[in-house]
Amino acid sequence: MAANDYYASLGVEKNASDAEIKKAYRKLALKYHPDRNPGDKAAEEKFKQINEAYSCLSDAQKRANYDRYGSAEGPGAGFGGFGAGAGAAGFGGFGDVFEDLFGAAFGGAGGRTRAARGTDLRYDLNITLEEAVFGAEKEITVPRWMRCDTCDGSGAKPGTSPTTCATCKGHGEVRTQQGFFSMVRTCPRCGGAGRIISDPCGTCKGGGKVRRERTISVKVPAGVDNGIRLKMTGEGELGASGGPPGDLYIVMNVAEHQVFHRDGDDLGCDFHISFAQAALGAEFVVPTLDGKGAALRVPPGTASHEVFRLRGKGAKSLRGAFHGDQLVRVVIDVPKKLTDRQKELLRELEMIGLSAKQPHGKGSSTHDKGSPHDKGVVEKLGDTVRDLFR
Ligand SMILES: [Zn+2]
Ligand SMILES: [Zn+2]
Repeated sequence: MAANDYYASLGVEKNASDAEIKKAYRKLALKYHPDRNPGDKAAEEKFKQINEAYSCLSDAQKRANYDRYGSAEGPGAGFGGFGAGAGAAGFGGFGDVFEDLFGAAFGGAGGRTRAARGTDLRYDLNITLEEAVFGAEKEITVPRWMRCDTCDGSGAKPGTSPTTCATCKGHGEVRTQQGFFSMVRTCPRCGGAGRIISDPCGTCKGGGKVRRERTISVKVPAGVDNGIRLKMTGEGELGASGGPPGDLYIVMNVAEHQVFHRDGDDLGCDFHISFAQAALGAEFVVPTLDGKGAALRVPPGTASHEVFRLRGKGAKSLRGAFHGDQLVRVVIDVPKKLTDRQKELLRELEMIGLSAKQPHGKGSSTHDKGSPHDKGVVEKLGDTVRDLFR
């Protein structure tokens, strides 16, 4: 019967009051709780015993049965049956009992030992368009709170240790009764920490953490774009009371490029050619972001702002292995300063263009009247030019 002597398990007298039983249970449960004795089999066994004892002795009917018959179930259950039943009955209700008694102390609502996840951090990383498109390795320096090495995070001067706050007995909060309501507020003496540091650590001034710059190497994958966030798990602020650290989010900030602009996975650029090159057609090497250049054939009769597509010369897609294209917009340059000779040739060109267009015209061709310098003809040329480019 020794193992099932519930009074002995809780260390109380047979005539102990409910309050005494509760107090004894609370004290023992805290001592042998698995959270405080990780991996300790003996403590776990002891913890089971005191819970079994308490689940019986805290219930008036079960206690009466136990006192009279040696079993919480009463006269119906034999000793053998009790053993099997205790596992189910004793432990089924135990969770609730425990919550009621220790909710706060073991991390329930408002408990000071509650582990909190650290804050997430954001870092804006400035990169060039080349780095965004081809990927890069960057080193960044992130300031964040670190555990103080001097005091090992306790906040107390090495050699001393924090003392339990006498006002709240270490709970971090104080209860006051107001009529029917029980008011809970943060302990004014310790500020909710549950402990007092009388001799603070010189390095962290008692806070237990220090602000340090940390250098982190960041691998920027090829194809990132403005605003893309890279998540670095666990590189955020430290958690509180053993909670996990937050994450670090690195936000890409891609600088404007002098030549290229980006449109999704495509890269766009302008390429300037002359009127003659556009009219006659020509081959070019156009710039590419990788600096190698690419061949572009502009066919005869190309209009200004026509767009040519260089397949696969854009950015690598973040969503797959494929690449975007490079879009080259051809811009025909109109010369601003002309020599007399150039002007003469252009006028001649216009005359030829006019006569070629004229066969179906009104009959007043340039063959009939004056030279191209004639004012009337120039006006007509203007009309024709407008027709041609309409
Ligand atoms: Zn306190
Ligand atoms: Zn410190």
